[in-house]
Amino acid sequence: MSTALNLPAVTVLGLGPMGRSLAGAFLKAGLRTTVWNRTPGKDGELTEQGAAGAASAEEAVAAGELIVVCVVNYDAADAILRRDEVARALKGRTVVNLTADTPDRARDTAQWAAAQGIDYLDGAIMTPAPSIGTPEAVFLHSGPRDLYDRHRTALDVLGGTHTHLGEEIGRAAAFDIALLDIFWTAMAGYAHAVAIARAEGVTARELAPFAQGIGAILPPLFETFAEDADSGTYSGEINPITSAVSTMAHVVAVSESHGIDAGVMRSVEGQARRVIGLGHGTDGFIRVAEVLGRH
Ligand code: NDP
Repeated sequence: MSTALNLPAVTVLGLGPMGRSLAGAFLKAGLRTTVWNRTPGKDGELTEQGAAGAASAEEAVAAGELIVVCVVNYDAADAILRRDEVARALKGRTVVNLTADTPDRARDTAQWAAAQGIDYLDGAIMTPAPSIGTPEAVFLHSGPRDLYDRHRTALDVLGGTHTHLGEEIGRAAAFDIALLDIFWTAMAGYAHAVAIARAEGVTARELAPFAQGIGAILPPLFETFAEDADSGTYSGEINPITSAVSTMAHVVAVSESHGIDAGVMRSVEGQARRVIGLGHGTDGFIRVAEVLGRH
């Protein structure tokens, strides 16, 4: 058992920036922490702080009750967990897999774990490595509720907010993917805006305060549009899609006049025109969500 408040001994498999932050937070809270990484030499700072560095994944697993996995993707996680020696050591222990990947990969690994007699929770981390151990950290979890409740106190030492999204194991990854979709398409929009602005002689610095203003419009819209999307009403009273589409066409025209790829905006404009073609021109933009999956 760990020395801290009857919390379990933990093992962290994977010592990239995130794995190191997780292990650091466990150590800081006084949990007995064992660490392992495929490539040796990444545990120096952690062992100086009191972590035990294991020579193999199976040795690391044997030292912990709660096994936290955080590697680049599920190919990597499976390569570690599904080796016979490791799978044997994991039997009867709990794995919390905080590696990011798709919902189907989470379901597949959960099925494998159940067949091995391994308790399994999946999770996603929605904030950068330096947030771990601070109130800013955001963790999403899915899997058996009683298992989550049993390990909640240990997970809490990682800081921030922890939300159990349901027993269906793919839920954390499903939220992760949807949120990454927002993040990366927004970042793609920003990179594209910088390219257009530059071509028009506007620096990214000059644009920044106004870019922040545009960005700030979005969060409240996620509430308003959630109502629309879930009820299927799509009110376009403030900005009907017929009006929105003409501003998209301007972005395409200016991009192409400067020889800048307009693929992302062309695709958005095409979806909006499709909505109009289907007779929903007076609806709001989020009606697009209805047609994206239709062929
Ligand atoms: P990386 O995503 O760069 O992953 C590096 C880790 O994966 C190392 O431990 C590396 O081991 C291991 N790895 C890669 N391939 C294999 C393999 N085939 N077998 C065994 N181990 C392998 O590092 P992070 O720590 O940043 O991220 C870990 C997870 O956390 C990812 O899923 C990421 O999406 C998620 N995450 C990270 C955030 C961050 O701020 N860093 C924020 C939110 C989520 P080796 O050293 O041997 O290559």
